[in-house]
Amino acid sequence: MTTTPHTPLTSGLDEQLPGLRALYEDLHAHPELSFQEVRTAGIVAARLREQGWEVTERVGGTGVVGVLANGDGPVVLLRADMDGLPVKEQTGLPYASTRTAVDRDGNEVPVMHACGHDLHVACLLGATAQLAAHPDDWSGTVVAVFQPAEEVGGAPAMIEDGFLDRFPRAEVCLGQHVFPAPVGFAVTRPGPFMSASDSLRVRLHGRGGHGSAPETTVDPVVMAAAVVMRLQTVVSREVGATQTAVVTVGSIQAGTKENIIPDTAELLVNIRSTTPAVREKVIAAVERVIRGEAATSGAPKEPEIVRLPSFPVTVNTPEATAAVTAVLGDVLGRDQVITLPEPLTGSEDFGCFGTALGVPSVMWHFGGADPALFEGLGPADLLEQGLPAGVASNHSPHYAPMPEPTLRIGVTTLLAAAAHWLR
Ligand code: ZN
Ligand code: ZN
Repeated sequence: MTTTPHTPLTSGLDEQLPGLRALYEDLHAHPELSFQEVRTAGIVAARLREQGWEVTERVGGTGVVGVLANGDGPVVLLRADMDGLPVKEQTGLPYASTRTAVDRDGNEVPVMHACGHDLHVACLLGATAQLAAHPDDWSGTVVAVFQPAEEVGGAPAMIEDGFLDRFPRAEVCLGQHVFPAPVGFAVTRPGPFMSASDSLRVRLHGRGGHGSAPETTVDPVVMAAAVVMRLQTVVSREVGATQTAVVTVGSIQAGTKENIIPDTAELLVNIRSTTPAVREKVIAAVERVIRGEAATSGAPKEPEIVRLPSFPVTVNTPEATAAVTAVLGDVLGRDQVITLPEPLTGSEDFGCFGTALGVPSVMWHFGGADPALFEGLGPADLLEQGLPAGVASNHSPHYAPMPEPTLRIGVTTLLAAAAHWLR
């Protein structure tokens, strides 16, 4: 089990941990969907005020921003995201969520903190408490951002709501995300760290009719099947072997009955890429395949292709990332911090803050899984082999980071990274 070194900013953290754990379990039991984080935001705002932070609520919907000015020095932005996911929790934890909510389409869905954002909120509130309690041990200004709706891109909503002008302008943006590696392990990467994500809603138009007389119809089910199969060639035939992209059709919907050929079919397509050039190329190829297959089928109408919320590539600024990597090494041990050879295929909107501000930005991932599940696999083995079977990843109904010592580590890494600029 990892122990974290004590620094002036972490003194008193041990006494804070039982309260943080109770907060974490409460947040976990009460997840809220993207842009519906009203209860969570209320708890965050109340805690920040108790700690002595200047608090602004309802930034970009349900976002909360805390500012603590403590003398001369840089302005550092620390960010946590707050939203849960429409997933039915199956962890069996005593504090598991049994909640449901109504999503944007009006459907009642189960809700779960399946991405660990509850842990991020608890860690940042732990860090803000430590910063407020130890003003003599740092100098500068901290902007604590509790962002709504990371899963659907809530950072741009805060920026559109005047974030840049309403709060002190940060000189560096720092963010962390829990992931299913052993607790005490962390990864980051200078340059592209996480992929761009683009999603499309595609409506294919055919001409419906009786299932016994397909010659009188244009069958959108066959058209959709052809699109899905042909899309598999975009990455394999059009993206270079040393480049990275993913094309996934996550949803396909058409028809109601076996003997009715429907009028339309709908596809939801997700695209991941790590460079602007590949991103543009793959999106263009996907659109070309969709239009081409519709034309080949004799579709009576062009397909409708709607862009859904997208995420840019999360780019870590090299110099600042080197500093954070060294700091994480001090906290966790050098061999526990890995610089990834390739960007991850997951996506984030954290990078939007640094991009909008035009300042350095660093994100890292820290482990939250029970080391016993990894049977002696070291960081290098994990990079090569991936997760062992039985370890749930983010977004799984079984995803359950260990509260301890992950909370302690998450608070300590945030403080240590911030202290690099605030000392
Ligand atoms: Zn997520
Ligand atoms: Zn997440």
